[in-house]
Amino acid sequence: MAVTLFDKVWRAHTVRELPSGQTQLFIGLHLIHEVTSPQAFQMIAEANLPVRHPERTFATIDHIVPTESQARPFADALAEEMTQYLERNCRRHGIRFFDLHSGQQGIVHVIGPELGLTQPGMTIACGDSHTSTHGAFGAIAFGIGTSQVRDVLATQCLAISRPKLRRVGVEGALGPGVYAKDVILAIIQHLGVKGGVGFAYEYGGSTFDRMSMEERLTVCNMSIEGGARCGYVNPDSTTVEYLRGRPYAPQADAFERAAQWWLSMASDPGAAYDDEVELSAAQIPPMVTWGINPGQSTAVDGRVPRLEEVPPDQQPEVKEALAFMALEPGQPIASVPIDVAFIGSCTNGRLSDLRAAAEIVRGHRVHSRVKALVVPGSVLVARAAEAEGLHEVFQEAGFEWRSAGCSMCLAMNPDKLVGRQICASSSNRNFKGRQGSPTGRTLLMSPAMVAAAAIAGEVTDVRRICR
Ligand code: SF4
Repeated sequence: MAVTLFDKVWRAHTVRELPSGQTQLFIGLHLIHEVTSPQAFQMIAEANLPVRHPERTFATIDHIVPTESQARPFADALAEEMTQYLERNCRRHGIRFFDLHSGQQGIVHVIGPELGLTQPGMTIACGDSHTSTHGAFGAIAFGIGTSQVRDVLATQCLAISRPKLRRVGVEGALGPGVYAKDVILAIIQHLGVKGGVGFAYEYGGSTFDRMSMEERLTVCNMSIEGGARCGYVNPDSTTVEYLRGRPYAPQADAFERAAQWWLSMASDPGAAYDDEVELSAAQIPPMVTWGINPGQSTAVDGRVPRLEEVPPDQQPEVKEALAFMALEPGQPIASVPIDVAFIGSCTNGRLSDLRAAAEIVRGHRVHSRVKALVVPGSVLVARAAEAEGLHEVFQEAGFEWRSAGCSMCLAMNPDKLVGRQICASSSNRNFKGRQGSPTGRTLLMSPAMVAAAAIAGEVTDVRRICR
C-alpha cells in the first residue's frame, strides 16, 4: 500500500499510543537555544532528572545575541545571564554547544541543516515556532513550548496528536525576480494564515523539485505562518548531495547506506492525502505583505484591498491592519516608502539569499533615508559570503554587515525599529511590534526585493532590476 513520508516517519518513531489519544513520539534530534531552554532545564533539575539523550541534543545562541559588538559580558545584562545559563546547562549535561567561539554559531534553523544534523526521516523538535524549517530535508519537525522542551530533555519523547496531511502542489518554473519566499507567501495568501491548522503540509511538484535545499528551507520555514503544524519536502538527490560531507552527516559507506534509506522514506506514488491543493508557479509574482499577518499580502504591482472587496467577516481585521500600517484602501503597494531594510533571519539569512540580494545591490547605493543591514544566519554563512566578497558589495552600497543572529527578525537584541519606522524585511512575521517597536511596521518580501527597496527607498518591483 502506498504510504506518505509523514506516515513512514510517524510510525517509525511511535513509542506507543497514549490514553489521551495522542502519540508518544521519539524525537531523533532536539535543538535548543537560550530563550526557551532555561525554564525547561530548571524543571528537570527540580525533578532531579538528567537529560535523557545529551548526544541527540545540540545548543546555539541566536535570539538575544548582539550583532555589532559580541564582546562578553554583553551590554544587555539579561542577554548575558541567559547565555551563562545555557553555558552552565550544556556543561552540566554534556550537551554540544555551538557558542560564539565555536565557529559554528548561528540561528538554530540555519546551523542544523548546514552542519548535517538535520537529516531525512528524522523527528526533530525545538522550542521555536520555525522548527518546521527542517522539513525541507524530509524530516518531521515540530516547534514546541517550554514544558515540551522539558519533556524532550527528560524523555527524548513528545506527546503529540497526529495532524492530517495536505499535499500542497506547485507546478512549473518561477519567473524572473520570483523566489522561494514568494512561493510560500503566495501559498499562505491562498490558504490563509489559519488554513493549515490541524494539518502537516507536504510540498510537492516540479517547482519544489527544481529548488535548492536553501530554497526548500525558506518554504518549509513559513509553514507555521500558514497555521500548519509542520511542512516537508520529500528527500531526493538534491537532499542527498547537500548532506554529503557535512560534519554531522554519516561519512563514507555509512553515508551511502543512509542515503538509500533517506530516499526510501519519500512518499510513495499514489499515496493518499487528507487534502490536496495545486498552484501554478507561473501565476506567482514577487509578493509583499501589506498587513499585520503573513497572509495579508499582494503582488508587488498590486494594491492593498478595499474593504468592500473582502468578505464581511474579514473586514474588521483588514480595517485594523490598514489603520496600523497607515495605508489607504486600494493604495498600490509599490512606492510605499521604507525607513529600514533588513536582510537575514532563519527564513532568508542563507548564502543563496545573500547572493540574490547582492546581485541587486551591486553598483547601487542605499537610499539616503534608509538604514540597511545584512545579518548572516550563521558564522559559516558569514564566512562563505565574505570569501565571495559579498560583504564588500553590501558595505560599498551602504549596508551594515553584522555578525550572525536572529537580529531584527524579532528584536530581542539591540537591533530594533524605532517608533513608526517601516521595515522591508526578509524575515517571516509582520505582527504588530515584532521588530522591537510597538508601533513599528513590517513589510515581508524576498531578500532581492528588500535589496531593491533599500536602493529605491520604497517598495519597488525587483523585476525592473533583474530583467
Ligand atoms: S530568525 Fe526569527 S523566526 Fe528564526 S529563530 Fe530567530 S527569531 Fe525565530
